[in-house]
Amino acid sequence: MLYIGSHVSFDKKDQLLRSTKEAISYGANTFMFYTGAPQNTLRYSISDEKTLEALLLMKENEVCFEQVVVHAPYIINLANANNLEFGIRFLTEELERCEQLGVRRMVLHPGSHVGQGVEEGIENIIRGLNAVFLNDHGHVKVLLETMAGKGTEIGRNLEELKKIIDGVTNQERIGVCIDTCHLNDAGYDLSDFDSFLKKFDSIIGIDKIGCVHINDSKNERGAHKDRHENLGYGTLGFDLLLKVIDHPLLENVPKILETPFINREFAPYKKEIEMIREKKWEDGWRENLEKAN
Ligand code: FE
Ligand code: FE
Ligand code: ZN
Repeated sequence: MLYIGSHVSFDKKDQLLRSTKEAISYGANTFMFYTGAPQNTLRYSISDEKTLEALLLMKENEVCFEQVVVHAPYIINLANANNLEFGIRFLTEELERCEQLGVRRMVLHPGSHVGQGVEEGIENIIRGLNAVFLNDHGHVKVLLETMAGKGTEIGRNLEELKKIIDGVTNQERIGVCIDTCHLNDAGYDLSDFDSFLKKFDSIIGIDKIGCVHINDSKNERGAHKDRHENLGYGTLGFDLLLKVIDHPLLENVPKILETPFINREFAPYKKEIEMIREKKWEDGWRENLEKAN
């Protein structure tokens, strides 16, 4: 079964119901959201009533709740010792919010070492995650995202993620989210995706993959930039991304689009999901959409 969706909004009033309606409008059967603004700590209390309404709507529309993903806010940086205490507290709270919503996967950027060095950064991340799992006895899995290697980002290669994973005491709680744009920008050649998966399996283990972010990239391989592009308009291309999406070893993993809005105005996801389902690229689809709107 293909689980395909995109990033969607979550708001104060309608919460998960809002996210669900948006996902359905794109023809998605999964989705990803932030529980609040990714740059601040303002969070509303979760309304179980809205969650229940959302669950019913998902059921009616064949959206698979087990495949829904939360993205942790950017302000959590476990790699930075000066921010560690805050990061531990806020990540614990985010996991509790996920637990209350019933979401089982949370994508987390490993963090940036901001000059303290990779090794110390990794140690801080391990300390942070272990502290979080000591406080929080829920079942939400934390998925470390593969990063482009912008600035002092940790997680720019599989070996760094492996080191973090090895340090985590609670193995059932930790996994990986692979992001196609980030992997390309980090220097991985995805044109032979089988070889990449083989490499991933030998270093980390393929069963650790709990989410795939599907993005084309504005930049050449190894650019360390992290700028997402719409499907087929970047350096990866539609056919390559389709191979990732349809890979049999990733069949039961949610695929989430984080491609940019068109003219920063409207979401491309309905069209992108349609092309993915039909396995067929529409020449000039973005220009066509621009004209139609
Ligand atoms: Fe991310
Ligand atoms: Fe991503
Ligand atoms: Zn990114």
